[in-house]
Amino acid sequence: MNTEKILLAGKIASQVREFVRVFVKKDASLLEIAEKIESKIIELGGKSAFPTNLSINEIAAHYTPSHDDKTLASGILKIDFGVHVDGWVSDTAFSVDLEDSEENKKLIQASEKALENAIEFLEEDVLVSDVGKIIQETIVGHGASPVINLSGHEMKKYDLHAGLTIPNVETGKNIVLKKGLYAIEPFASFGSGKVRDGKPSGIYMLIDTKNIRSQTAREILKYVQEEYSTLPFCSRWIVKKFGTKALFGLRQLEEQGNLHQFPQLVETSHSKVSQAEHTVLVGDEIIVTTR
Ligand code: MN
Ligand code: MN
Repeated sequence: MNTEKILLAGKIASQVREFVRVFVKKDASLLEIAEKIESKIIELGGKSAFPTNLSINEIAAHYTPSHDDKTLASGILKIDFGVHVDGWVSDTAFSVDLEDSEENKKLIQASEKALENAIEFLEEDVLVSDVGKIIQETIVGHGASPVINLSGHEMKKYDLHAGLTIPNVETGKNIVLKKGLYAIEPFASFGSGKVRDGKPSGIYMLIDTKNIRSQTAREILKYVQEEYSTLPFCSRWIVKKFGTKALFGLRQLEEQGNLHQFPQLVETSHSKVSQAEHTVLVGDEIIVTTR
């Protein structure tokens, strides 16, 4: 592991988060917010580790604006983005209430406090089920439910979801936390506490580099390998590079099994969802890289 690059990726994410907090307002264009975040990351010397997720209300995750997106910020907005420095990643998220609602604020507090309590508990060799238990108890203590089928995750070089999963509930399994890089990300809702797959997100990941006949698709595939490797990317980025003809190329690559497209994740009872996330380096000491 390259600790220096991991810390830098975290520091950039932290600076970007403070930059975003100032300009995110109700009715701001999601497309503009995403582009400002992604330009700031580059300005600070990093690259996006995945497309900026800007998910509103019952969409828990995996909404990224399309190249011509007209959606405006509203409700509970979850701002989730990541930075990488030569493949070493950070992943952070926070939620904002854009309708001045006590209920929203309470839900946001639930996920934030759960994240804080979980981080305080972290050390090498604790049971990941106990981390989940703390998250669960904190969220339930705020009168909400943790989203049980979303979880934190280990991260490795050019790999956002590697190895170990950090649950948001007690699982009772005998799995211990080892040294490594982890994203801890509690989600809270007043509804069912579960998500299901929604519409296609326009967020993709390379899964197979096998050859494809179409010229445009082939160019996209080559660009994806060079520019994103195994990290997620989105149709908006590809359209920026190749124009809208790339949308057909992406479809061909998905159909042929070169790319996986992620679905949006929607709360099953259509209740609003809040999220808080930090990246934590677990070693002889615990370092929250994105704080
Ligand atoms: Mn995230
Ligand atoms: Mn994450």
